[in-house]
Amino acid sequence: MLFYISYKFANALSTCSDCQDVLSQLIDSRKSGTHLIYANKKSSNLILNFLSANNKRHYELFNNISKLFIEKKSLIRKLEKFIYLTDNSNNIIKSLSRILIIPASIANNSQITYPTLFLGENINDCNFYALKIAKNYKKTISPELHNLSINSRRFEGGGGSCTHVPYGRYKSNKIDLCLCIADSDRSYPSANLGNTANLILAQDKLYENQLCDFHIIDFYSAENLIPIEITLKINTEGKSQQQLDLLDEYKKIRSINEWRYLPMKKGFNCQEIRESKATSTFWKRNLSRTGVNLNCCLDEECQNVILPSVSDKTLIKSISVPGSDWEYYLNSEKNKSIMKSYEKLTNTIISWLCAGSPIRT
Ligand SMILES: [Zn+2]
Repeated sequence: MLFYISYKFANALSTCSDCQDVLSQLIDSRKSGTHLIYANKKSSNLILNFLSANNKRHYELFNNISKLFIEKKSLIRKLEKFIYLTDNSNNIIKSLSRILIIPASIANNSQITYPTLFLGENINDCNFYALKIAKNYKKTISPELHNLSINSRRFEGGGGSCTHVPYGRYKSNKIDLCLCIADSDRSYPSANLGNTANLILAQDKLYENQLCDFHIIDFYSAENLIPIEITLKINTEGKSQQQLDLLDEYKKIRSINEWRYLPMKKGFNCQEIRESKATSTFWKRNLSRTGVNLNCCLDEECQNVILPSVSDKTLIKSISVPGSDWEYYLNSEKNKSIMKSYEKLTNTIISWLCAGSPIRT
């Protein structure tokens, strides 16, 4: 997260002990590569004046950091969220569109200078969203946000359908910055949100706390966001030619907007595609319009594969695919709904987890 040190905060340093503590924590957290700091010229001078009289080591550090503030200024306009630190004249956190205004007293009684918690359904999801997508997707992202470090020290797997439990805990504690991301589990557009997403939503409503936020990606599962080339490559091992041909059917579906709802980890067999369930009706129509072969037989219990499932190891295996491949495939994506999701995920994750390189002294 980027911390914008306000003039009010800088100006209160000589009398406000909360401001002094928070500044100290913030400089240490910047030094360790945890968060980013910005202050304008006027505030920087006040801070340097204060530090030169009180803390020589922090003076040196801040003096170095402040040389990069020019670059940070353009960054502020592009971040989806940042923190604006102010003095103690107010005693509540205020949210003003992209800006989270936090008084020194609240900052000093929290752990917001610790790394931001990033909560996913499991740790692979965290690595996937942050270190594969947000780190490598650039096509529709402002250049200011390219190549920012992502702090990965506090990634946490929520345990699948239990993800709402830690999320609720962080939201009620009001101590840590926490971003939670989960998928929707919807296999057709008018389906209800899945359990995991619903429970997170319910926890979110329970507590008022702007230090935590969540984002539900409207995709059946995280696998639907993996570039098709990577998914197919991972799933070809040990397959017969007939199985490979069936797997290739995925390429026909990839370009349609409805791809996001495709239950890839289940697939469809002959019986399922003919059922009268809403998901079958929806997918029968969409598979047939993209040219997937649905003609198998009339046997009502036929288990022949129409669209194969992808391995449940697909996501974890995709994590070990090199970043350069990810960068190439993510940025050559043509499906608009997938690109929109890459864009949202990248902007959100970079805003909450952006960090500077550690400073060695
Ligand atoms: Zn059949």
